[in-house]
Amino acid sequence: MRYVSTRGQAPALDFEGAMLTGLARDGGLYVPETIPTFTETEIAALAGRPYEEIALRVMQPFTGMDEARLSDLIARAYQNFGHDARAPLKQLGPNHFLLELFHGPTLAFKDFAMQLIGQLFQDVMTRRGERITIVGATSGDTGSAAIEAFRGLDNVECFILFPEGRVSDVQRRQMTTPSEANVHALAVKGDFDDCQAALKDMFADHGFRDRVGLTAVNSINWARVLAQVVYYFSAATALGAPARKVSFTVPTGNFGDIFAGWIAKRMGLPIDRLVIATNRNDILHRTFATGEHRKEGVSPTISPSMDIQVSSNFERALFMAYDRDGAAVAQLMDELKQNGGFPVSQGAMQALREDYDSGSCSEEETAATIRAMHARTGETLCPHTAVGVKVAEEHLGESLMVTLATAHPAKFPDAVEAATGHRPALPERMADLFDLPERMTSVPNVVGDIQTLIEERIN
Ligand SMILES: *Cc1c(COP(=O)(O)O)cnc(C)c1O
Repeated sequence: MRYVSTRGQAPALDFEGAMLTGLARDGGLYVPETIPTFTETEIAALAGRPYEEIALRVMQPFTGMDEARLSDLIARAYQNFGHDARAPLKQLGPNHFLLELFHGPTLAFKDFAMQLIGQLFQDVMTRRGERITIVGATSGDTGSAAIEAFRGLDNVECFILFPEGRVSDVQRRQMTTPSEANVHALAVKGDFDDCQAALKDMFADHGFRDRVGLTAVNSINWARVLAQVVYYFSAATALGAPARKVSFTVPTGNFGDIFAGWIAKRMGLPIDRLVIATNRNDILHRTFATGEHRKEGVSPTISPSMDIQVSSNFERALFMAYDRDGAAVAQLMDELKQNGGFPVSQGAMQALREDYDSGSCSEEETAATIRAMHARTGETLCPHTAVGVKVAEEHLGESLMVTLATAHPAKFPDAVEAATGHRPALPERMADLFDLPERMTSVPNVVGDIQTLIEERIN
């Protein structure tokens, strides 16, 4: 299986190459050259199988990896999840289900991809006899998922930059309580944009990049998208696919999670609609409403993991909608950078609308949905999931609807308590989070100082 860039100018790579490279050299994102498909019989055979087995069947054709080796890495990746089903379903209404993706070690869906990527990286580095340094910037969820995935692994050193004082207590403690020497939580005196800017500068410093073996695990990494394809299969087959069609509503920010659903559909899974749910940072919803993709400022919400101005993985959907025309995508991305937006061609808009719907949810509606669901079903939703449920309810139809529950409510206790009057408790297996000692290093918002610290730590 070969991977090509969405901008058409970077060399094609194999799975391992695409995973280790992250962003393509022409600034594009890697996508598979062809998408493998399953027959109805093959899909039907997945129903009721363990999550790990479904993961092996779905991912193997994309990786070209030896089955036994991939199977072993998958088993390690999901062994610390707090639920045997890994991604269990819960019923909200006659035709509406919740897919709980928050039973991983940091209580958000990012664990599905990050835990696997940790194993894949370690495997490759051990075989090559090389070491890498992961540096990431986070507003909360990605950093804790990365630290949890890389803690204690050989050949990998992991540094996470987060804005000091601007992540939730749970998020901070998930980053600062792991005691393994290879993980480093760095509290930057600045905001999330400062952390991201510092990271960008480090990647642009080629000398530093080569000296430390700098690698990124941000959401544009193809291996992360691939790991997320699996739960569309596990959910749909559990609910009767391929005999029944299923729609999915996905709380969306960077478009990685919902694009995984699109891949599942192209592999032959009978997905009816893929519904994009945004909070008031609604660049994607506006694109579908107006045919124009245009940036606006970010405004903070109670669903912070979806507070984005640029939705990076949307580039992959555009590449597909423009019939894999890399030159056209490169031009659009140029316009986005120069002019802050671009009109999507009529043909591409039509192609997008064949698969996706969209909706957005205000702050008041998010809180009202948390409150109403709690009263009507007893379910406590995290604010991101509430955005999904509200938009899903506007799109209920013939086919079954599954809304992705992207985080555990205890990760966002203040917003949930404000809406329901009840403070959600952490699952028992992590109830000691607030008793463990914290370990972090405060760093100034000066990229040179951060680089010096990183080089000292790894040598
Ligand atoms: C990252 C995140 C999202 C958004 O997912 P994308 O793949 O960026 O669209 C939604 N909810 C939660 C809780 C997240 O952490």
